[in-house]
Amino acid sequence: QDNPNQALFDLHNQAARIYHTVLTATEEGAKAREYLHNRGISDEIIEKFNIGLSLSDNDFLYQSVKQKFEESVLTNSGLITFAENRIFDSFRGRIMFPLNDKNGQVIAFSGRIWRPEDLSNKTLAKYKNSTTTPIFNKSDALYNLDRAGQSIKKTREVYLMEGFMDVIAAYENGVSNAVASMGTALTEGHIRKLRSVTKKFILVYDGDKAGQNAIYKALNLLASDDVEVVRIPDGLDPDEYNKAYPGALGTLMTSGRMAPVEFLMDHLRPANLSNLQAQLDFIDLMSPKIAAIQSLTAQDAYIKRLVEILPDFEYNQVESAVNQRRENVVAS
Ligand code: ATP
Ligand code: MN
Ligand code: MN
Ligand code: MN
Repeated sequence: QDNPNQALFDLHNQAARIYHTVLTATEEGAKAREYLHNRGISDEIIEKFNIGLSLSDNDFLYQSVKQKFEESVLTNSGLITFAENRIFDSFRGRIMFPLNDKNGQVIAFSGRIWRPEDLSNKTLAKYKNSTTTPIFNKSDALYNLDRAGQSIKKTREVYLMEGFMDVIAAYENGVSNAVASMGTALTEGHIRKLRSVTKKFILVYDGDKAGQNAIYKALNLLASDDVEVVRIPDGLDPDEYNKAYPGALGTLMTSGRMAPVEFLMDHLRPANLSNLQAQLDFIDLMSPKIAAIQSLTAQDAYIKRLVEILPDFEYNQVESAVNQRRENVVAS
């Protein structure tokens, strides 16, 4: 008991147990489980990921834990809100995803709305996260890192995803080395944590515009790391893709990876490449990235790909642009 935060850990662990029991053993829980089942989340997954439910009652959690913890612990956890004249649970009526630290202790929650009346209420945030506490800071927290740890070490790589549902969809497809941030963009803090367990990162973000922009930003942060990108087609996210194409997500994640340069060639490509200057600028942008590739065969392939989309340039012109950059790379 020499860890000053032990009471906070204990409270979170107990809260997780209570939320989980509410989901698995109450009438309200049966309805929430139906929502989860409809999303393809089985009872087995509910157990594995310790998913729970916060009741819509004002203070169910508070009543369940108030005898066992000091008020300061309840306040510090953020799980209970102490207002002027009433005390209530901070999470109510949400499906609860516990976030664990690397030792498997619960340190925070993210709660998702699920009741039809909440889903149609546009003022409610879809997910709500725990507030910052002495044991939780969302800027470096990674969902599923505790369970994924072994598999990350064994495969020597980690998949980065946007959402909890995506991590779970990956797991259902046999991919157990996936983690997600808590609704924030990737930070140096996340990366520092991951670099200590692996050297290889695979980005599997949502196929929508926001997800593609997030890949671009993540590639800048991971510029000096070994990275690959998986693009989810049709603007879907990994979880939606899993629903639309059952069984295909695992194959896409293991065999559908592309090098950053391939992603960038598509992502950075201007909408209009008909004028000469736009083509020259694009050659300037892509040449150093192609020149930096180790394999000459791969360089050749990317030069060809680039030439295909440039109406006014031929192979040898783009190649000489790349060669110039290559000399710069060698010289520096
Ligand atoms: P779902 O499949 O349940 O709709 P998602 O993961 O696809 O969730 P996205 O909209 O893609 O949701 O957002 C990615 C992540 O961002 C979520 O997993 C969640 O952590 C976070 N997030 C999304 N919406 C909110 C919100 N309104 N408030 C806080 N965090 C959010
Ligand atoms: Mn998204
Ligand atoms: Mn999504
Ligand atoms: Mn989703």
